[in-house]
Amino acid sequence: SMNKLVVANWKMNGSRELLSALPRFAAAAGPGVQVAVCPPFPLIALAVDRGVAGIVVGAQDCHAAPCGAHTGAVSAALIAEAGARLVIVGHSERRRQCNESDALVARKAAAAVAAGLGPLICVGEEDEGEDPGTVAAQLRASLPGGAPAGIVVAYEPVWAIGSGRTPAPSRVASVHAALRAALIAALGDVAGRAVPILYGGSVDAANAAAFTREQDVDGVLVGGASLDREAFQAIIAAV
Ligand code: 13P
Repeated sequence: SMNKLVVANWKMNGSRELLSALPRFAAAAGPGVQVAVCPPFPLIALAVDRGVAGIVVGAQDCHAAPCGAHTGAVSAALIAEAGARLVIVGHSERRRQCNESDALVARKAAAAVAAGLGPLICVGEEDEGEDPGTVAAQLRASLPGGAPAGIVVAYEPVWAIGSGRTPAPSRVASVHAALRAALIAALGDVAGRAVPILYGGSVDAANAAAFTREQDVDGVLVGGASLDREAFQAIIAAV
């Protein structure tokens, strides 16, 4: 339970009312456990304005450009101005539904870093049983250049998202080892080891600790179960 990160991805769900659960999420976190909540854009400033100590607020996407004629899109700078500190980039739902490539994800991550946000870069194989090297290659192609600060990585096997099916914790550990090696190769030893690597995909209160017990599993990224007050509180308490 030392230095774990538990991130809620509300996706296109949640409500202003659900923000009232933030204090109980903060209270459930033991020493060394950081909680972050990524609601839809209209709730970000409201979440920040709750002023709940111990809760980091994040967004679920940003545009790659700093500003401009991009109707309906949101810049990393405005997300930062709203008080968020993180932004998810490259979630598999955006890769699939919005045709986002690794190269675009890398540009979004760079835009996040330039705005002072930590990019939470998501990667994961489509079908069960692919080589960990495939996921590591996806990460290398999705990383921003330079010496970016504040990066977080999430391994989310697409087949495990919202399905109730999960990889074995040992399988998660081997993918995370490959991701760690890719981070060290890209960023150097010290910076590469400092990047938290989260597991996501059908995480619930019953299975969360089995993942975070593994080497190089620094926390969890939670979708469906993060919308249930009791379930998310139990996940935070379990890691
Ligand atoms: P579920 O926890 O609903 O499987 O979603 C995982 C996810 O996509 C988090 O980003």
